Amino acid sequence: MEKLVLNAYAKINPFLEITSKRLDGYHEIDSVMMSVSIHDTVTLTRTDGGITITADTPSVPTDSRNIAYKVAARLLDAVNETRGVHIDIKKRIPTEAGMGGGSADGAAVLVGLNKMLGEPLCVDELCALGASVGADIPFCVRGGCIRVGGIGEKVAETLPVPKLHILVAKMGEGISTPAAYSALDSLYGDFVAYSPKAPTELLCAIRNEGNLDGLYNIFEQALDALAPSTKMLKNRLARLSRGALLCGSGTAVFAVFDNERDALAAKTALQKDSAISFVEVCTTMPFGVEIIN
Ligand code: ATP
Repeated sequence: MEKLVLNAYAKINPFLEITSKRLDGYHEIDSVMMSVSIHDTVTLTRTDGGITITADTPSVPTDSRNIAYKVAARLLDAVNETRGVHIDIKKRIPTEAGMGGGSADGAAVLVGLNKMLGEPLCVDELCALGASVGADIPFCVRGGCIRVGGIGEKVAETLPVPKLHILVAKMGEGISTPAAYSALDSLYGDFVAYSPKAPTELLCAIRNEGNLDGLYNIFEQALDALAPSTKMLKNRLARLSRGALLCGSGTAVFAVFDNERDALAAKTALQKDSAISFVEVCTTMPFGVEIIN
């Protein structure tokens, strides 16, 4: 197979708690991650050698800094493949949003390139390879709804995927992930003697009612200092919906609606606000990567 087109789905975290800070500076987390239908489109074309990238968004690097480049290099190396790949990325997942856009592209490259090479690696091997590049990549490879542990790369429990109507919106302001962690380190004393919350209410709601009661994201504590207008957006969305929450370390916010009509009405209201840089209605997805053709 010489060419493959894949959808790379974004993620939200209906629950995100930091459980500890490791000696190497990484934070261990307890999080429920969920794939949503907002996606990039990744087209892979086999070449005679090397890795090249094109993207339709100027802020996305097209060299070895791109997550898609890094995973392709590791996969080709792992299976001793001498031919190369061209990766074209149509970016629809907002960047620096906490929706795992780069990780989703990386997962699509792993799944797609592995398929083109005759599937030399199994899913667990692809996830291990992805984890060596970024902690969210294994989730994006598996997709659906998963409670994760470690630094986000470990599966603690695979959950059913509730069918939900979700609105995602983002203000123009962004937060760098290191700045967000650093703000929380100051606030919680490097998480020494910290008592983490557990996702008990959310897990019960997902398993029994198929909804998302019990939303929680510790990164919301950093919004006052780092992104005050995102906090206002979250409060506005919370009033319009069943519940709203920051995506990952920010700054997109998602809101859960009972039906598509209410979600679309909220989208129309938000589109009138010029300070909002992204607004989209989506649904939950049972997978993180989908082969289109
Ligand atoms: P996360 O939830 O993983 O923290 P994020 O929304 O904060 O996601 P991304 O949009 O994935 O962050 O990317 C953040 C930065 O990573 C970008 O500013 C960009 O420079 C770099 N990057 C590397 N590869 C990609 C990619 N394929 N797509 C987008 N950004 C990428």
